[in-house]
Amino acid sequence: MTTPQSSSNDQTRFSFEFFPAKTEVGEEKLREVHRQLALLNPDFFSVTYGAGGSTRDGTRSAVEAIHKAGSNVAPHLSFGGSSEAEIIALLNDYKAMGISRLVALRGDIPSGTGATSSYYYANELVEFVRRHTGDHFHIEVACYPEIHPKSDSYESDLHFFKKKVDAGANGAITQYFYNADAYFYYVERCQDLGIAIPIVPGIMPITNYANLARFSSNCGADIPRWVRQRLQGYGDDADSIREFGIEVVSQLCDALLDGGAPGLHFYTMNQSGPVSAIWHNLGLSAR
Ligand code: FAD
Repeated sequence: MTTPQSSSNDQTRFSFEFFPAKTEVGEEKLREVHRQLALLNPDFFSVTYGAGGSTRDGTRSAVEAIHKAGSNVAPHLSFGGSSEAEIIALLNDYKAMGISRLVALRGDIPSGTGATSSYYYANELVEFVRRHTGDHFHIEVACYPEIHPKSDSYESDLHFFKKKVDAGANGAITQYFYNADAYFYYVERCQDLGIAIPIVPGIMPITNYANLARFSSNCGADIPRWVRQRLQGYGDDADSIREFGIEVVSQLCDALLDGGAPGLHFYTMNQSGPVSAIWHNLGLSAR
């Protein structure tokens, strides 16, 4: 594609999300991916957290490694099945480490647990963090321009998003989407409700159709029909999928920045290649 002139400025905020590695080989790969993406000078990295505490130690150690390597990093956090004392201990641990940003979530409830009582809604977690750590953390929360898959309605999802903001969230990162209009429409509805925090689009690079289709049906992200048709048509041709994916997602990012989005948060899936290519297409290399 031709290189668009990205409309980013000094205030535009860029971040890259990782998930904790489960093996030593994965950890080594993550260190290398972090090293490469750190060269792009993002504002911060973030590391996901398995609800139910399944990745609590993995998240903590990945956060520590990224922090020690000199990058700003935000752990994702949710109550999951943890006790209040465990979450307070983790918050204090992060504070002592020098971490000052969190992504606060309810988290996805692992299937088959049958338990929901200890799965605090994200607004309750934000209130909890504020109660126990005051203003120490800059708190990001999640939001859903195409609406959370379990929401009763568009209005109720907006209502619950506002509760997270009222509880003290400083910023929001969206679920990924491929339709820029859904984002802009959502931002306007949020503004109508008096929500004034930055709402940063979450960007999912496209590298594999089967995985993308599975994730998207779970999280309620719409893959436009023309994108789906094109990806399906490439079959096993990974190079064409990658090339098309980079082009489509670069154009999406460009439209978002052009339309005034306050930044971009990339779901890197622990890969540096697609994000670096999109970054280059956006003309952000000199940032
Ligand atoms: P909430 O804001 O609590 O909302 C959950 C659902 O409940 C919504 O349908 C909402 O409308 C409704 N709701 C909210 N509050 C109330 C209330 N008080 N009463 C009744 N209904 C309510 N998952 C992970 O497991 N680990 C991660 O690290 C992770 N990182 C993510 C990062 C981002 C940027 C995003 C967008 C998602 C992430 N997720 C992660 C997925 C997320 O945990 C799921 O989408 C989860 O189902 C909802 O989390 P939430 O924080 O948005 O929940």
